[in-house]
Amino acid sequence: MVPGGHTMGAGGNCICPKCGERTNHQRGAPCQDERCPQCGAKMLREGSEHHKKLLQKKTKDQ
Ligand SMILES: [Zn+2]
Repeated sequence: MVPGGHTMGAGGNCICPKCGERTNHQRGAPCQDERCPQCGAKMLREGSEHHKKLLQKKTKDQ
């Protein structure tokens, strides 16, 4: 699934929509239930529809 041949294992990352902090996605624990260790915001699954929409919003706003 990951282009470039990285072998990080399946799982992916959660990403903070506020500060961009990334954490390893825990199996069975949705990113939305995780809190950012840096700023305490709700995390998003990296690459998810939510995350994509957020990125689109950001690029439009700036
Ligand atoms: Zn954060």
